[in-house]
Amino acid sequence: MSKYQSYTLRNFRDIPQIQRHLTEEERFDIEVVGNVLPFKANNYVVEQLIDWSSYQDDPIYILTFPQKDMLQPAHYEEMAKAIRSGARKPELKLIANKIRMELNPHPAGQRSQNVPQVEGTELTGVQHKYRETMLFFPSQGQTCHAYCTFCFRWPQFVGMNELKFAMRDTELVIKYLRAHPKVTDILFTGGDPLIMKTKIIDAYVQALIDAKLPNLRTIRFGTKALGYWPQRFTQDDDADSLLRTFENARKAGIHIAFMAHFNSPAELQTEAVKTAIGRVLNTGAIIRTQSPVMRKINDSAAAWASMWQQQVALGCIPYYFFVARDTGAQDYFAVPLERAWHIFRNAYQQVSGIARTVRGPSMSAGPGKVHIVGVSEVQGEKVFTLQFLQGRNPDWVARPFFAKYDPKAIWLDELQPAFGAKRFFFEDEYPLIRPAKATAKPAANLLKSPAMN
Ligand SMILES: *Cc1c(COP(=O)(O)O)cnc(C)c1O
Ligand code: SF4
Repeated sequence: MSKYQSYTLRNFRDIPQIQRHLTEEERFDIEVVGNVLPFKANNYVVEQLIDWSSYQDDPIYILTFPQKDMLQPAHYEEMAKAIRSGARKPELKLIANKIRMELNPHPAGQRSQNVPQVEGTELTGVQHKYRETMLFFPSQGQTCHAYCTFCFRWPQFVGMNELKFAMRDTELVIKYLRAHPKVTDILFTGGDPLIMKTKIIDAYVQALIDAKLPNLRTIRFGTKALGYWPQRFTQDDDADSLLRTFENARKAGIHIAFMAHFNSPAELQTEAVKTAIGRVLNTGAIIRTQSPVMRKINDSAAAWASMWQQQVALGCIPYYFFVARDTGAQDYFAVPLERAWHIFRNAYQQVSGIARTVRGPSMSAGPGKVHIVGVSEVQGEKVFTLQFLQGRNPDWVARPFFAKYDPKAIWLDELQPAFGAKRFFFEDEYPLIRPAKATAKPAANLLKSPAMN
């Protein structure tokens, strides 16, 4: 594998496969949508993950290259017109930002509700929503080796700077961890924290080790580097030293856990990823895997069963099966909750118990991670059985509750309580803001999907 070569809107037309396979119209679509939603790819993704002979249906192509239908037609036309008329960068940016603001850039109250304080200072690079686990967004880790078209963190990649969660100050983080002894896990996230140079990662990890926090048991990394750039662990200049950082943490009694993001079986099949996983596991770190279920990328039980089986064979532990979030191009990717449950169940039934460590479908919604346990019928009423896997209030977790069955629902706020109740049990503390029926988002792409059932 040659060195890392990054592709953005500026140079994607130079990619040989793009020149060879795409029509000019398709290249223009990438430009239009890529001006609104983030776009970045690299040579590993292009050369080893995408099957260009059928790129229009290729999961990784759809995952990384913007598609026309990811924008609503009016938004697409607005941007296309501006580009055709030769509008300049600042003007395109204004149009893009206006469209972005209509795409729910802050789902689940990320900005306003989860930013903690320590001694009167806001920790803007921290989110603390679930008691045991604190998310940390190191400022140098707020980008990725490539961008996923569905990403719910998309606003921070498109220059909406005030939306960035980022901070450099580990001292404040350590103070916060001391003040919150129930926190056992710090989860480095981004972007992709493993885009950072080892020098920086090591400085953070070493500071946490040196602080000797009695409550800190686990350092987690939410990362897609194994999927998008496994060379991070094999041939990058600082690959070996990164592995040593993980080993050092382990020697200090801190568990290193990868929350590895894999969306499609293809990402698990290259020699590069297999070698990378082996090297990470050799340090004593554990790799847990997660992904949302997305239309056109992995909305089949076969894809999931294959992913889980391959992951287990490589020594990884399947962890979460998520529902696509209510932001960005959600209308393009959304799989209704019932269908997500069918896919999950069908895949889960195909694998041995060793792969059934996975939980889902789970929605990361405002009040918590809500698990769609299934569709049941109770005293003649068809309902969704739900429970929290994580709750803003820990007391909500693992308590079954019920919503009216709704085959079209794609998110928690579209669900109504079952059995004539006015509100879900948690709504005394955390009321849901349900979209008004008449102004509900047009799900044009959903309705024309042949894959719907
Ligand atoms: C998913 C998530 C976590 C981690 O939850 P676990 O169930 O412990 O893996 C932490 N914080 C936020 C905001 C999350 O969405
Ligand atoms: S790797 Fe993660 S943070 Fe980066 S674009 Fe994909 S989903 Fe978003």
